[in-house]
Amino acid sequence: MKCEFCHKDLIKTMGSLGEPISIPRIGIIHRSCAEQECCEFCGEKVFLNNETKGEAIYIKSVGAGHALCAEQDLVSKHIFSSRTHLKNISIFELYELRELVQLEINHREDANIEPELF
Ligand SMILES: [Zn+2]
Ligand SMILES: [Zn+2]
Repeated sequence: MKCEFCHKDLIKTMGSLGEPISIPRIGIIHRSCAEQECCEFCGEKVFLNNETKGEAIYIKSVGAGHALCAEQDLVSKHIFSSRTHLKNISIFELYELRELVQLEINHREDANIEPELF
């Protein structure tokens, strides 16, 4: 098992890089790697400001960022303006958009699932 960020073996490097933690949609990474990772949009630590800036997401073409920062970035590029056609959006922006849409869908689907009682 390897860290998604530094690609070092998680078990062998546990002593120096911290215990492995699991990040949704990113994978398993070292605790210290998580603490070092900065948001590509606001530059703050991506896993430490989750209350105000949304959960960490990983966009292949961009890197790690807060969900809310990524959303604001897209809005500022006018991707959601009615005059924008999908054909005019670069493939990298489409990747970003796909991540955000998927995240929103997951949130809504999770909210709709009633907890099962046994
Ligand atoms: Zn690592
Ligand atoms: Zn951010």
